[in-house]
Amino acid sequence: MSERAFEKLEILADAAKYDVSCASSGSKRQNKDKGLGNASNGICHAYTEDGRCVSLLKILLTNHCIFDCAYCVSRKSNDIKRAAFTVEEVVDLTISFYRRNYIEGLFLSSGIFYNADYTMERLVRIAKKLRLEENFNGYIHLKAIPGASEELLKEAGLYADRLSVNVEMPTETGLKLVAPDKSHKDVIEPMKYLKKEIIGFKEEKKIIKSTPTFAPAGQSTQMVIGATGESDMEILGMANYFYKKMSLRRVYYSGYVPISTDNRLPAIGTPVPMIRENRLYQADWLVRLYGFNVNELVGFDLPNLDLEIDPKLGWALRNLHQFPVDVNTADLALIKRIPGIGLLSAQKIISARKFKNLQPEDLQKMGVAYNRAKFFLAKSSPFALHKDYTSEQIRQQILTLQNSKYVANFSPQMALF
Ligand code: SF4
Repeated sequence: MSERAFEKLEILADAAKYDVSCASSGSKRQNKDKGLGNASNGICHAYTEDGRCVSLLKILLTNHCIFDCAYCVSRKSNDIKRAAFTVEEVVDLTISFYRRNYIEGLFLSSGIFYNADYTMERLVRIAKKLRLEENFNGYIHLKAIPGASEELLKEAGLYADRLSVNVEMPTETGLKLVAPDKSHKDVIEPMKYLKKEIIGFKEEKKIIKSTPTFAPAGQSTQMVIGATGESDMEILGMANYFYKKMSLRRVYYSGYVPISTDNRLPAIGTPVPMIRENRLYQADWLVRLYGFNVNELVGFDLPNLDLEIDPKLGWALRNLHQFPVDVNTADLALIKRIPGIGLLSAQKIISARKFKNLQPEDLQKMGVAYNRAKFFLAKSSPFALHKDYTSEQIRQQILTLQNSKYVANFSPQMALF
């Protein structure tokens, strides 16, 4: 790689790190002692539909931009080093990294040169060249530029596995505050169009086998959290709208990293809202996979998620009348709602109880966090916790247990459900 291309890679991989919509792992591991591979320089990880983890070259085509969104490091008023790859450079980088086994795919986003179509056309040319000229079959995730023509979006879907249009701020008011030139409509329109095409191509393929695949991994979006004043109720409400109305595969939540001195935004040095981001992902999981409604987790009387405890435990403590639950007789939907019991353990419980009356040790073997679950299990079962605790007492006991576990393990990991 030429020195200039390497310099561009450093600038444009660094600028891409703020986009979490490909679920970057953010690895910083460096190659040592002439070992194989290097996890820096824009290599991140994403999960495919079948659950495989793939490494992606994550870069911007350019960090030049005609817009001045206050929250963005690439905004035109920011005094930073600028660079732009050519179409050929991105193709060459992708192929050479792929051949070296560094990556299995490409995540390509961009600032906006001149206008949306000019930029989108280059993104499409890269994907097209990779597929048609280089016979590249790896994963490609392209950013769909709001305002780009439908013809270009359609072409993008023919070559990319996934497309994403970032909504950026969860509400129109928030977006107008920090990016007055943008509107939610600019994002919703391409999403609607992509949804229509994804469904159309799928339907056609059922009848005509030779129909090409169109964005087979669907579309996703990203919302920046904590830059403007939206509540978790507004954020999760917006995400729910995207899942239901736009059939989005994923909504990503990105805690705002203060990068500019601007009185519309949190000051530099304000901590990134990592725990809040984590709670939003947990709530998102509960809605997508556990059968919860958003309004069971947040509402006008409770606009924000509790940062101390996960949203499933929060719901259970507000709904103690739904407990205790007997895992030997309850249906799957209710078992999934017991704090400390995940999706997999719930399935195992349903299968195993056909053969025996389950005991606490059986649950522990299945991976249930028994110390948490025990407060919600039926007294009639062998798990009896012969005490009528109040919500606050259960909360305190679980928090004490959680905190003592952290001290013992020195672990930065939070308990999941
Ligand atoms: S349009 Fe995109 S790249 Fe440009 S300043 Fe706004 S967020 Fe950043």
